[in-house]
Amino acid sequence: MTETKCISCEEIIDIESGCSADRGEHKGEPLCENCYCDDMGEPIVTASRGKDKQTYYCGNYTSDADYEDNAIAEYFDSVKWHSCDAWRGYYKGEAPAGYEQMVDSWFGSVDGYFPDDIVGRFHEAYESGELDGIEYFAAFPRTSNVFSSGIEVYIHNQQVDEFKRIIGINDEVGNAS
Ligand SMILES: [Zn+2]
Repeated sequence: MTETKCISCEEIIDIESGCSADRGEHKGEPLCENCYCDDMGEPIVTASRGKDKQTYYCGNYTSDADYEDNAIAEYFDSVKWHSCDAWRGYYKGEAPAGYEQMVDSWFGSVDGYFPDDIVGRFHEAYESGELDGIEYFAAFPRTSNVFSSGIEVYIHNQQVDEFKRIIGINDEVGNAS
């Protein structure tokens, strides 16, 4: 048996039987079975694909998009924690190849409050089906404030103009900081 340490709980595990992280900066590093299984129990970000409303989950070390959706898997890979101070911060990702970020904001996950109009417009268009012909995904990264969630919307770069026309806003609006 070749021994190694789980990168999350530091338990000694057999490298042969262990699992490994499949996203982010720790990709390929050893993870024990328990940590692997628990990782997506409290996702750091979820992403919903526009065309079929399929939702994918991403934990600190693993995600379930890896083998199914390249754009979302690539996005998950880019998600990192940004700290505002010792206690507060938020997760944030970057646009995968071929996509452009159109919404970068947040909303109240309990009261539904949102500071940027584009979030409300996006929600309306999402609910009414106006966006059904658009290739996009919406991501909801966690923040240190349990009452608010980030929202990032990524549009396929060939449909950016169409998205802007539907939403009725000409410029990128909002900043999650
Ligand atoms: Zn572990």
